[in-house]
Amino acid sequence: MQLNCSELFRQQAFINGHWCDALGGQSTQIHNPADNSLIGFVPVMGKEETRRAIDAANCALPAWRAKTAVERAAILRRWFNLMLEHQDDLAQLITAEQGKPLSEAQGEVKYAASFMEWFAEEGKRAYGETIPGHQADKRIMVLKQPIGVCAAITPWNFPAAMITRKLAPALAAGCTMVLKPAPQTPYTALALAQLGVMAGIPEGVFNVVTGDAIQIGDELCANPVVRKLSFTGSTGVGAHLMANCAPHIKKLSLELGGNAPFIVFDDADIDAAVAGAMIAKFRNNGQTCVCANRIYVQQGVYDEFAAKLTAAVSALKVGRGTDTDVTTGPLINQQALDKVQDHIQDALSQGATLACGGQPHALGGLFFEPTVITGVKPGMKLTREETFGPVAGLIRFTDTEEVIAAANDTEFGLAAYFYSQNLSRVWQVSEALEYGMVGINTGLISTEVAPFGGIKSSGLGREGSRHGLDEYMELKYLCVDIS
Ligand code: ADP
Repeated sequence: MQLNCSELFRQQAFINGHWCDALGGQSTQIHNPADNSLIGFVPVMGKEETRRAIDAANCALPAWRAKTAVERAAILRRWFNLMLEHQDDLAQLITAEQGKPLSEAQGEVKYAASFMEWFAEEGKRAYGETIPGHQADKRIMVLKQPIGVCAAITPWNFPAAMITRKLAPALAAGCTMVLKPAPQTPYTALALAQLGVMAGIPEGVFNVVTGDAIQIGDELCANPVVRKLSFTGSTGVGAHLMANCAPHIKKLSLELGGNAPFIVFDDADIDAAVAGAMIAKFRNNGQTCVCANRIYVQQGVYDEFAAKLTAAVSALKVGRGTDTDVTTGPLINQQALDKVQDHIQDALSQGATLACGGQPHALGGLFFEPTVITGVKPGMKLTREETFGPVAGLIRFTDTEEVIAAANDTEFGLAAYFYSQNLSRVWQVSEALEYGMVGINTGLISTEVAPFGGIKSSGLGREGSRHGLDEYMELKYLCVDIS
């Protein structure tokens, strides 16, 4: 696809149903991480444009909120259909600005669209409650009502899905939204807005503001009209936004960093564990918040697992996401590549061993060799920080209590994975892991039907499932005296 020919390729922000430039006309370049080529420009907006978008969302709120859930669902459903009809164009955009292989980008479009379909349906079931009264002449009811104007700030690793899993429940609930997409991946967000226009969303219901993250973020947090902020990104930025939302006690959903343990017990199906590790570690080139970050392998199966994983990783094909058979694209930027190298260097300098990879790829630029490192020890950066790149570090362990303690020894609590065929161990370990999500004998846990989210420093709230809708609704309790 020629991006310039696609009706989805928009180089302006989207406010109050109109495509617009920054008030001062400023714009910035967006580059393809595969070769640093110029994709296009987007406006650099700040506080004033953000305020306009918030005002537009506020003006649109009464009419949107007043629609029936079925009417809102019809629009979301059309949006879902349009995403699938334009799956190829959307995937091309994702690959161009984010770098992931086209097959993964197509998978992301389907996943992103699934939230539109799910919440179109779920919005119809925002049931309240009736509660037996506390006195003979009292009747009690609980209504669920939309929170109001919501803000969303999203990351670059899933340029479509991280948006729709906020946007779809917000709109289904009757809220309106202002989105600030990641600076690296604005075009997918703008393409979604274009599809929204085609689906018939009224003006102001969904707004996309591109530009200065701090200016836009400050306004989204400080403006009292915004009643809720949903953020996906790093823990540091999440904590900063939370503090900025404190003065008006805004509601928050935060999906933050992880440091996922992936545990292979000696009773595991090793081939399945290798396949799961390939997905949990190397999907999106290791750039997901639920990526396996610390791979603990029990003594008895360590050598077999290490050999099989190394063979599978060596077979990955690095290249441009648009080339056929490529499994692994570029990293998002130089900082990401530097962090990967730093983690590898840190491990090797402390006695770990390189099993494969370990170097910038011969293709140059932001391409890096998928890497396996054995003999990783607690305390190395690979075990303490989210690597967010294609490096699997293997840690040997002997007993269950030891590995659970190690797995929980982190401030994070997003995703964990383990492989075991022993039923009592499966329950024991599932209950002991201090994480919001646990994959058992699977390396892939993301789905629109389940509550995605973390505990501890990994965040607040859940996205997807019926719980995802509640994040955008308030409870109102009515107490009626019938005497
Ligand atoms: P990453 O390091 O993966 O880019 P970040 O947490 O920095 O993760 O970014 C996630 C999102 O948060 C992006 O949309 C980014 O522009 C935005 N962001 C970063 N810093 C701020 C800030 N101070 N205020 C508002 N948004 C921010």
